[in-house]
Amino acid sequence: AKINGKNTYLFFEPTKGDFASETLIIENGLRKALKNNELFLVYQPKWDTKEDQFIGLEVLVRWQSPELGFMNPGQFISIAEETDLIIVLGEWILKEALNSMMELSKTIGFIPKISVNLSPVQFRNSALNTTIKEILEETRFPAEKLELEITEGALVINPKMAIEKMNDLVNLGITFSIDDFGTGYSSMSYLKKFPVSTLKIDKSFVDDVVSDHQDRAIIEAIITLAASLEMKTIAEGAETKEQVDILNFIGCYAIQGYWHSRPLDYTALMAYFQKLN
Ligand code: C2E
Ligand code: CA
Ligand code: CA
Ligand code: CA
Repeated sequence: AKINGKNTYLFFEPTKGDFASETLIIENGLRKALKNNELFLVYQPKWDTKEDQFIGLEVLVRWQSPELGFMNPGQFISIAEETDLIIVLGEWILKEALNSMMELSKTIGFIPKISVNLSPVQFRNSALNTTIKEILEETRFPAEKLELEITEGALVINPKMAIEKMNDLVNLGITFSIDDFGTGYSSMSYLKKFPVSTLKIDKSFVDDVVSDHQDRAIIEAIITLAASLEMKTIAEGAETKEQVDILNFIGCYAIQGYWHSRPLDYTALMAYFQKLN
C-alpha cells in the first residue's frame, strides 16, 4: 500500500512480525550487502563511431541479494542517497573499479579509461577529494584515466564550491562529464564556468532521434553547444544502427548503448577486449 506521496510502501516482515518500510528493508540489506560481497560492478564500453574505436568504460553497480533477488541501481541508489550509505557505497565502487582495472590491465596490456558515477550527495561530501586521492594512491590507478560523471543537479546547489572541488581534481588529471544532459538546469553561460570535458546526451532524446524531429533538433543543439564550449558529446542508450548512423551524421563524438555493447561483467569484459584486438 502506498502510504504517502513518496515512494514508501509498507511490507509485512515475517521475521520481525511487523511492518517495515521497503526503504528500511533495502537500507538494511545494503549494509549487509557491502559486508557480504553481494555487490558487483559491470562495465559498459563507450565507442567512438567516427574512428571506430574504444574510448572508455562506464562503471555501473549491481546487487545480487539472497533475500531480495537481483536489484537494479534504480531501486537502491536513491535509498542509499537518503542516508549516508551512499558515501560508503560510493567509496567501495570507486576502489573496486580502480582495482579491477589495474588487474585487467595485466591481461589486456593497457589501463582502460573509466568513468564512475558520482551521486550529488557524494559530490557535496566535504571529504570527497581526499577520499579520491587516497584511493588513487592506494590502487596506483592513473588519474588521467579516471572520469567522474555528475548530473547538472549536483552543480547548481553551490556552484562556487563545485567549481573549486572540480578544479582540484582536474589538476590531478581527472576529467568530468555531465550525465543525463538536457534534462536539468544548465544554460550556456552557466555551463562554461565548470571544468567539464564531455556532455552525455540523455537517453530520452536518443530514443526517438530517428523519428522525432524535435528530439533530433535538441541533440543537434547540444552538439553545437558542446563544440562552442570545447566539450565532447556522447549519446546514452543508443540501441539501433539507425540511431547510431544519425548520431554519427550530426556530429556526436561517441555512443554508449546496447547497439555497441551491453554492460559487461569482468569476465565478459576480458572477452570483449580479446575480440577488439
Ligand atoms: P546512468 O548513469 O544514466 O547510466 C546509464 C543507464 O542506462 C544504465 O542503467 C545502463 O545499463 C543503461 N543503458 C545503457 N545503454 C542502454 C541501452 O542501449 N538501452 C537501455 N534501455 N538502457 C541502456 P543502470 O545500470 O540500471 O543504472 C541506472 C542509473 O543508476 C544510472 O543511470 C545511474 O544514475 C545510477 N547508477 C548506476 N551505477 C551507479 C554507481 O555506481 N554509482 C551511482 N552513484 N549511481 C549509479
Ligand atoms: Ca552515468
Ligand atoms: Ca541516463
Ligand atoms: Ca543518471
